[in-house]
Amino acid sequence: MNTTIDSAVPRTVTRVIKGMPATDGAGVELTRVIGQPAMPMLDPFLLLDAFRSDKPEDYIAGFPPHPHRGFETVTYMLAGSMRHKDNAGHEGVIGPGGIQWMTAGKGIVHSEMPEQEDGLLEGFQLWINLPAEHKMDAPRYQEHAANLIPLETRDDGTQVRVITGTTSQGTTGPVSQPLTEPLYLDIHMAAGQTFTESIPETHNAFIYVIEGPVTANTIEDQTVQLHRDDLGILSTGENLTISANDNAVRFLLVAGKPLNEPVARGGPFVMNTREEVQQAFEDYKSGGF
Ligand code: FE
Repeated sequence: MNTTIDSAVPRTVTRVIKGMPATDGAGVELTRVIGQPAMPMLDPFLLLDAFRSDKPEDYIAGFPPHPHRGFETVTYMLAGSMRHKDNAGHEGVIGPGGIQWMTAGKGIVHSEMPEQEDGLLEGFQLWINLPAEHKMDAPRYQEHAANLIPLETRDDGTQVRVITGTTSQGTTGPVSQPLTEPLYLDIHMAAGQTFTESIPETHNAFIYVIEGPVTANTIEDQTVQLHRDDLGILSTGENLTISANDNAVRFLLVAGKPLNEPVARGGPFVMNTREEVQQAFEDYKSGGF
C-alpha cells in the first residue's frame, strides 16, 4: 500500500513482453514489439518495431515504395540514417537522434531506405492511430534533427529527450499531436538514480528498455526488472517511478490517449471498417494516392 499522504495513483508495470523477430520491407530484419500476437495493439499504438543491426544484410534492402493511410508513422533513429522519399516530392534524411513524425492521413506512398552501406543502424518505428474523423486528413510531416529535440537535465543528472508532450518539469517537445496527446521521452539515468514522471492518468503507456536493467513497481507492491528490449505495459495512473540500480540505463517512455474506436487493419492501411480498408486498396491500385 502507498502509505504516504501523496494521493497520486502510481503507474505500475502490468506485463513484460518480448518482441518477436520479423522481416518487413524488402527484407529488413527487425523486432516487432507491438503489433504481434503477444501485444496486437495498445490503443492508440498500432505497432512498434525496433531495429538494431550492424550487419548490412539485415537492413540494406530497406523499405521500397509502399503506401500508408489512416494513421501516423513515427521514426526515431538512435544510430545510422534513413532516407525518406514520398510521391508528393517530400524527401529527407533522418539522422542519429532525429525524429520523423509522419501523419499519413488519406494517403502517401513513400520509401524508407538506409543512408549507409555498413555500420550500425538502430532505431524505432511506432504507428499511432488517428481518430475516424481525421483518417482522411491531408498528409503532413513533423521532422526534427537531434539538435532540435530538447534535452532536459534534472538535478540528479537524469537526462530526458523530449520528442513530444510536456514533462513534469515543463520541457515541451517539438512535435504536436492534439488528437492523441502523445508523450514520447527518451530517458538516460546514471546508476543509483530514480526517475519519476507524471503521465495523463487515462493514457495508455509503455516503457521500452534500450539499456537495462531498470527496476519498476508492480501492482502487488513488488518490483520487477526489465532488461534490454523488454516492453513494459503500464497500468493507468498518474506517476511512474523507474530506478537504475547498478548500471546506467536508457529507456523510452511513450503514452497516448486511447481512441476507443473499431480498428480494421489491412497491411499498410488502418481504418475503422473493412470497407474502408478495401477502399484504400482500390484507391492505391487506381493511382489515387
Ligand atoms: Fe512506411
